[in-house]
Amino acid sequence: MQELNTKKVKCPECLNYMILIAHNNGYSGQCSVCRSIIYSKQQTPKEKLIKIIKN
Ligand SMILES: [Zn+2]
Repeated sequence: MQELNTKKVKCPECLNYMILIAHNNGYSGQCSVCRSIIYSKQQTPKEKLIKIIKN
């Protein structure tokens, strides 16, 4: 059985709520409003790296 790990976050670009899907070492997803692709990587419990790719 596969567990799908998702996270609801606010898009850094347009502040729309979007769903990120968990990967090996982070989260990623595409905003349905502004079409930006967001990569979120947990570095330490206090630090987070977010990469935004604009279309
Ligand atoms: Zn957006």
